[in-house]
Amino acid sequence: MTAPLIECQNYINGQWVAASGETLESRNPSDWRDVVATFPRSSAADVDAAVAAARKAFKSWRLVPAPARAEIIYRVGELLLQHKEKLAQLISREMGKPLTEARGDVQEGIDCALYMAGEGRRMFGQTTPSEMPNKFAMTMRIPVGVCALITPWNFPVAIPCWKAFPALICGNTVILKPAEDTPTCVHYLSQLFHKAGLPNGVVNIVHGLGEETGRALVEHPDVNLVSFTGSSETGAEVGSVCGRTHKRSCLEMGGKNAQIVMADADLQLALDGAVWGAFGTSGQRCTATSRLILHRDIKEEFTNLLLERVHQLRLGLGTDPQTEVGPLINSAQLQRVNHYLEIARAEGTKVLTGGETANTENLAHGFFFQPTVLDRVTPEMRVAKEEIFGPVVGLIEVGSFEEAIAILNNTPYGLSSSVYTRDVNLAFQAMRDIEAGITYINGPTIGAEVHLPFGGMKQTGNGHREVGTAALDVFTEWKTVYVDYSGSLQRAQIDNRD
Ligand code: ADP
Repeated sequence: MTAPLIECQNYINGQWVAASGETLESRNPSDWRDVVATFPRSSAADVDAAVAAARKAFKSWRLVPAPARAEIIYRVGELLLQHKEKLAQLISREMGKPLTEARGDVQEGIDCALYMAGEGRRMFGQTTPSEMPNKFAMTMRIPVGVCALITPWNFPVAIPCWKAFPALICGNTVILKPAEDTPTCVHYLSQLFHKAGLPNGVVNIVHGLGEETGRALVEHPDVNLVSFTGSSETGAEVGSVCGRTHKRSCLEMGGKNAQIVMADADLQLALDGAVWGAFGTSGQRCTATSRLILHRDIKEEFTNLLLERVHQLRLGLGTDPQTEVGPLINSAQLQRVNHYLEIARAEGTKVLTGGETANTENLAHGFFFQPTVLDRVTPEMRVAKEEIFGPVVGLIEVGSFEEAIAILNNTPYGLSSSVYTRDVNLAFQAMRDIEAGITYINGPTIGAEVHLPFGGMKQTGNGHREVGTAALDVFTEWKTVYVDYSGSLQRAQIDNRD
């Protein structure tokens, strides 16, 4: 491997600073012999420095007019566009997703910058009449303060952008803690933030391990808000620390998303959706389709069509333009998926295709798993309820629409969902009855757009939504203001009553 080794550093107070301690390595999941970068294993002291820089910068950043803050984010969007191809290549190398998807990852960041930049000129509050004469009432949005943004590896550019852009436009300062599997993508982002002209300390980046650097950040007394995307286990831990320390938290965790295919559906369309939803990003999306709930009248035909398509999927290195399905992120993830296959077999499912680590010659040095279809899955099985986060989809047969909805809802999660039907009445029932933050009608479970709220019900999250205008509710406090211009004391609920 010839690409030069990148040295990621922490970005604190507008400067890249050398690690105080050990450095760690980020490797290419398609070929682990390829060391992409080194990055710091930041300590609590490094976190302290970043929080202090963010706290100091907050004093002046909150006073910069929101449209002016937004213009800088717009510039970050322009820079992302200029660097789109280079960044996409880096994402594919460091995270393993195919290039077409990596370009989408960057595009999502660009979309978010342009959309959120517009919010800088809106950020509307309300005005309302007071119940008293000569008195005025209104609400305004106030930044929360210093925000810790803890991000996962599956969208190494899009998710940091989703969190950072609204936080910054609302007037907060941030400390980003990228996932240890994809530090280089966020290191690259730090260069774009710098170039766009963000004042020192407004964005800070600390690399390191979740249990050390992430934990230190969440526990830090001078952090006001934690926005986290990752596993349910870690999310529960982050949420409990925030609960104990009275920090605002926005948690985005797992999913066990299903696509329903009714007997009247356009089967080719449903098939395109199922293949993309289940195997895009090797199933490593929190919105990935991991259950296909199929009406019994079309199950056999649909299954045969699905297998034909799955056999044609090209498994390969993320950076190879021919690749349709890349590797899993690391060996732990590969072990986890293999473990779920053991569970699936023990539970009595039938592996129709795949089911094994893929280690043909060109894949032997990466973390590849064969695209897998499990049949005879029943709703009570663990593989029907727990998140696998790999290229594995289970088929569940149903006899009615009501049964399909009940099974779809039968998980602790509630992120994304999809229904393929040509019956408008069923489509509207699905929109009403599915317990998920996102429902697609005649589209796959993946494909969120940044101007709409993103997030889930039940144990997927803690009630917040990201992006869209919903993001402003995460990153601002409501201030209610009463202006009394009567010149006398007016007691609400008292002086205007007999
Ligand atoms: P995954 O299992 O998908 O890697 P994690 O939830 O472990 O997801 O990681 C998501 C993000 O949370 C990463 O940036 C990781 O470093 C961070 N993280 C992990 N453990 C903790 C923790 N205890 N406190 C704060 N952040 C953490």
